[in-house]
Amino acid sequence: MARGVYVGKERNPFLVFLFGLITAFIYTFYWFYAANREMQKRGIERAKPALYVVLAVIPVIQVLAVHRTVTNLRKIYLGNNVPRDPSPWALAVLCLPLPYIGLLFASSFVQSGLNHVWEETRARVIEDGPEVRDLHCMECEAVFEIRKNPYSEGVVRCPSCAYEGVVS
Ligand SMILES: [Zn+2]
Repeated sequence: MARGVYVGKERNPFLVFLFGLITAFIYTFYWFYAANREMQKRGIERAKPALYVVLAVIPVIQVLAVHRTVTNLRKIYLGNNVPRDPSPWALAVLCLPLPYIGLLFASSFVQSGLNHVWEETRARVIEDGPEVRDLHCMECEAVFEIRKNPYSEGVVRCPSCAYEGVVS
């Protein structure tokens, strides 16, 4: 049976850059949290979203936030056969001559990579079709059939007693 795989949010890389610029990087700091949290949910346990935000706020030190974020993306690539190979340091050192602006380039680039992974996962779901299985209600013992995306969690509702639960 297919294992539950988390699919994150797709964001337009150009808008990720632009929102960062017009909010004086506030959006970019939020993005470092959100994107790394999504990668963590996707199985990169070493991702530390809150820590990366703190690092991203500090000039020079922000090199580390970019390096860790791109490294996490590469780990996801390895697990998903996405043919892209960014260098974590190439993006990270951009923050030395261009503090904060370097974060914009990195966030835009990594988001583009994540979009590829999320799209690839959705394509796999379409190819494999929905998963059909029988579920046993924990509340009223009724047995009923469900159809769901095999790569994500879904909320199901028992047709006889309306008990709701999450299945992965
Ligand atoms: Zn029930």
